[in-house]
Amino acid sequence: MTDTTYDYDLFVIGGGSGGVRAARIAAQAGAKVALAEEYRMGGTCVVRGCVPKKFMVYASDYAKKIRQSAGYGWSVSGVSYDHSAFLKAMHAEVDRLSTIYDRSLKGAGAEIFAERAEFVDRHTLRLMTSGRTVTAKKILIATGGRVWRPTPEELPGVEHTISSNEVFFLDPLPKRMIVAGGGYIALEFAHVFAGLGVDVTVVYRGDKVLRSFDEDVRDAVTEGLTQAGIKLVTGTVFERIDLEADGVRRVTLKTGETLRAETVLMAVGRVANTDTLGCDKLGLALDQNGAVIVDQWSRTNVDNIWAVGDVTDRVNLTPVAIREGHAFADTEFGGHPWHMDHSDIPTAVFTQPEVGTVGLTETMAREQFGEIDIYKTSFKSMKHALSGSATRVMMKLVVRASDQRVLGIHIVGEDAAEMIQMVGIAVKMGATKPDFDRTCALHPSAAEEIVTLRTKWVAPAV
Ligand code: NDP
Repeated sequence: MTDTTYDYDLFVIGGGSGGVRAARIAAQAGAKVALAEEYRMGGTCVVRGCVPKKFMVYASDYAKKIRQSAGYGWSVSGVSYDHSAFLKAMHAEVDRLSTIYDRSLKGAGAEIFAERAEFVDRHTLRLMTSGRTVTAKKILIATGGRVWRPTPEELPGVEHTISSNEVFFLDPLPKRMIVAGGGYIALEFAHVFAGLGVDVTVVYRGDKVLRSFDEDVRDAVTEGLTQAGIKLVTGTVFERIDLEADGVRRVTLKTGETLRAETVLMAVGRVANTDTLGCDKLGLALDQNGAVIVDQWSRTNVDNIWAVGDVTDRVNLTPVAIREGHAFADTEFGGHPWHMDHSDIPTAVFTQPEVGTVGLTETMAREQFGEIDIYKTSFKSMKHALSGSATRVMMKLVVRASDQRVLGIHIVGEDAAEMIQMVGIAVKMGATKPDFDRTCALHPSAAEEIVTLRTKWVAPAV
């Protein structure tokens, strides 16, 4: 298979979820593969994203569980939390997972360069630590995304804030935290730190958090923030941040209001990691935000170069990057062409309670199909009848009226992520509301409500 004109059949830039999967599958198919990673194998998800974040969600959730156990007769005295011990255990696990990525790739026969790669031309890359150049017949860009923050000119004092890269190292925990943003990262960490006892304020520029999510999800998440004791300031942004003598950050909002906290977290989005790749040398087409433009096969406008994952800014989720990388490698090296289908991707936001969603929102469904039936419920789960918690579960089915196909499911509640992964199969298969009705409930569970929704929701008369 190997074309001896080049050093490698495939060179992958970036050792995250998408790049590693593509490199491994291509190597297993017999290609001569190398991959460059400048930081640690595993990328955002493993090193500074989904994995450590989920551990932090678990850590903070224990606090609630301990409190709620009193309703079940438990008397827990002398409970304490050692954040340093938790962080140590969490980072040890992240290290272990990163090593597994490294080992699995080498085991498949791929070569790994622990340094940054930049384009010299469309077949040549320079490895920036050793200075060595390598050539490859095909190149895959899988460099992911990075935190975006305003510049100090745009936001004076931004240097006194942290990003989601640093939240995994905050030790000791601050007393107070101000979080900018109303998206995935802002809300997940607001709940994590509030659960760990930090006094958290979220400042969001819009009127309701989680833009682009179903309206009922947004309402339920807003209610969840309040129940967690998180203060939410909407309709404004930071004007400036000043560092006071005692190390406290004073945030002045555009409204003139001031807030004070030991830590300020900026979670106002991420951008594609393309600025140091040397894309201009190849005429590689990027969109206005710097993301690599690709077609459904992850092909760029340069015919030997592909891109997968967050660097393409399609659907920025780990399992999507993995599938895009796998599809690319199967297509180009495995003799099995296929491409990722980006519809009906289940996704979760690990707020507490969490969001699980798949398919279309009510608004999107009405725009696309006109007449839509809505089934929805909000209830207190059996577990919380005794726990003392006011937390509720919201479930919603978006159904196309013409043929009763379920177009979307939205859940906010404990274990919503677990539920949506399972029910996502039914949505992907094109299940109809009568299919849900024919499915027997599993009692007692919270999930059973999804198959017992019988009454169409009717908008209240105004
Ligand atoms: P999001 O796009 O989800 O959120 C960014 C937030 O910042 C939005 O609320 C946005 O407001 C706000 N914002 C943007 N620009 C500004 C500005 N100039 N001033 C003030 N506010 C601003 O990005 P995240 O960084 O939270 O997450 C990045 C991506 O990572 C997500 O889209 C998701 O794909 C992925 N992710 C997935 C997770 C999961 O699967 N559980 C967890 C974490 C991340 P507005 O809404 O008004 O635009």
